[in-house]
Amino acid sequence: MEHTFQSPRPIPDFLRKDVVSKLAYVDESIAQVTLDDHDTLHCHLRTELTPDQRQILDGKMQQVIDLLVTSTRQPMIKIIENHLDRPVPGRTDPMPQLLETGQLVHTGDGMFSLGPLVAGLCRYFENRFFQLALSQGAGIHRFPSMIPASFLEKIQYFKNFPHSLSFAAHLRTDLNTIERFATETRCQDGVLHLPKDSFSGIRHLLAPTVCHNYYLFLANRTLPHPLAMATALGTCYRYESINMHSLERLWNFTMWEVIFVGTANLVKEALLRVGQEASLLLQEWGLAYRLENANDPFFIREFGMQTGFQNIYDLKYEYRARLPFKEGTLAVGSRNYHMDFFGRQMQIQLPDHTTAHSGCIGFGLERLAFAFLAQYGIDPNQWPESIRTALFPTP
Ligand code: AMP
Ligand code: ZN
Repeated sequence: MEHTFQSPRPIPDFLRKDVVSKLAYVDESIAQVTLDDHDTLHCHLRTELTPDQRQILDGKMQQVIDLLVTSTRQPMIKIIENHLDRPVPGRTDPMPQLLETGQLVHTGDGMFSLGPLVAGLCRYFENRFFQLALSQGAGIHRFPSMIPASFLEKIQYFKNFPHSLSFAAHLRTDLNTIERFATETRCQDGVLHLPKDSFSGIRHLLAPTVCHNYYLFLANRTLPHPLAMATALGTCYRYESINMHSLERLWNFTMWEVIFVGTANLVKEALLRVGQEASLLLQEWGLAYRLENANDPFFIREFGMQTGFQNIYDLKYEYRARLPFKEGTLAVGSRNYHMDFFGRQMQIQLPDHTTAHSGCIGFGLERLAFAFLAQYGIDPNQWPESIRTALFPTP
């Protein structure tokens, strides 16, 4: 079933990708959506819709386009490092080969189990990132992969990213509820049908990022030093709807982070210093990538008024790796400065009793492995020697 919608207003080039990705969340009937050069949206529908339902769908699509077009200004792209043209041998999408060879198994929506090739790459990158952070003085941490609802509410996450949330639910601690669940629950077409009111109130969610748990760790404290530095690996969850087909966009993924909490100057200095070391690692691994400023809708809303638009684009930088098979790029990591936002919300104080600033650098390991395989292929003989020998030492 197809449905087309002609946008009544022109969609600027810089917003085309955002429009398509946001449309993944407007209606459950949409299985796939593409945008052509004439600003017409082509939707592939899961179910047939009545004319009334189609009209409602059009209204929702228009609402998203209106919001994005009227509230977003064209970002000024600032390129900090450009290694995008570095020659790399890979030309093809690694996904089909990884699936065919059993190196990857798709186990659910946005979920893949990784075999030794991809898991080995993730582990290698993770080890090197940890070595880097530890050598810079970061303390290693391990955080839960859940986060209290009260924390996410406090940092206004519900207002800004409701579509991507994942909830941790459990049954009510009530014998009758548990027995009814045990006898009546059925899974049909992958969907759980369970007795009404089985779940207790939701108090926790699955963590969308690693550093939140560090701000919670430091909450209501006065730090003994003007800079605290932590590093951790964590499982993160972001529901990305119909956009989840490959390692590019997962529901459940692993992020490595190094996190800085301290004075504005020390945080900014550490972000730059450790960021440059991280860049050297990407270069050593032979990756074709670019480091450029990025817009994060969360911070645009939070700081847009306070700082003027220009500064917003100095808060987030993304490492975008080349994907030769689609002549595009993919964000594999980011460097973020949050000013005193988390310090204020979580009451983290510095030794002089001023509010702490914070920043973090994070890399998605599955994405990094995916970009590496897109650039070098799945045959280790084609890989840069240092990575090949680290993963497959010859006896
Ligand atoms: P962000 O906090 O949005 O800057 O994300 C940090 C990094 O996490 C990104 O650069 C990606 O490498 C990774 N990441 C974010 N979302 C996803 C996702 N849905 N699937 C896989 N990796 C992701
Ligand atoms: Zn972070």
